[in-house]
Amino acid sequence: IKKSAGKYAKNATPVKQAAVLGAGIMGGGVAYQSASKGTPIIMKDIRPEALELGLSEANKLFNGQIERGRLTAAKALKAMNGITPALSYGEFAHVDLVVEAVVENVNVKKSVLAETEKYLADDAILASNTSTISITELAKDLKRPENFCGMHFFNPVHRMPLVEVIRGEKSSDEAIAKTVAYAQAMGKTPIVVNDCPGFLVNRVLFPYFAGFSLMMKEGADFQLVDKTMERFGWPMGPAYLLDVVGVDTAFHADQVMAEGFPDRMKHEGINAVDCLFKLERFGQKNGKGFYAYE
Ligand code: NAD
Repeated sequence: IKKSAGKYAKNATPVKQAAVLGAGIMGGGVAYQSASKGTPIIMKDIRPEALELGLSEANKLFNGQIERGRLTAAKALKAMNGITPALSYGEFAHVDLVVEAVVENVNVKKSVLAETEKYLADDAILASNTSTISITELAKDLKRPENFCGMHFFNPVHRMPLVEVIRGEKSSDEAIAKTVAYAQAMGKTPIVVNDCPGFLVNRVLFPYFAGFSLMMKEGADFQLVDKTMERFGWPMGPAYLLDVVGVDTAFHADQVMAEGFPDRMKHEGINAVDCLFKLERFGQKNGKGFYAYE
């Protein structure tokens, strides 16, 4: 970990126009956070209904700010107008930094990143919000790998202060500096970390999920585990957290971790997350995971 991320951003030119790929849990959150702190952002998805959902989630968050007296309606409206929904790469030539937040699949991400790069100015930065996939690996098909790094937000984006900025083998100092500066402009606390599966936080979190899955195989009651972890003092237990993260996202991330750390992270047979994934119980995003949601 490079402790003082601030020093990276000193000479960085600020991001004036951002974009995010994916309007899901994370993409929608990034769009809201960027716009609410004054950096306009294009939010691109391939599904119109995802854009609608991303916009309505951002709208809800802005309304919450108005209700709490933190924003006037006029300021909230101005910020909300800073989010431009898009189904195409139309305006991407004017974007300074793109956050990629599509599904946690190495092949999908690689093809989306290579496609996006074609529409960007030569000095624009591409940053992936991947939870676990190596940044060096994702950079392999890019024409300008020096302009690429990781920018890993946490869920929910508007609440979680930390952002991991990940340096891939070819990421330039300028790419790191601009990404750190953008994270700061969004009101976040960036740390610069080296590249490995799971980076820092998920190297800690996924073994915890693995421990929980093992206990479930041994017959533990997930609700009791959740309640116990809450009493231990954590805001939520592992089952509820998996529902918040998205069981599908956790499933894909788990594969990456198992490949990266087979001695520690590979499991025999299927576990609770695999099971829920197969049943398409993806958590809060589709109303059912470990728990059922309205
Ligand atoms: P999600 O399923 O909620 O959203 C993904 C979105 O990407 C969907 O709206 C989908 O339509 C869209 N998409 C798919 N292909 C696309 C393309 N080619 N172009 C544009 N949009 C496309 O997933 P999420 O939870 O927001 O996760 C997104 C990324 O963020 C993943 O890499 C995940 O690992 C990472 N992440 C997730 C969390 C979390 O807690 N959920 C936390 C940190 C990082």
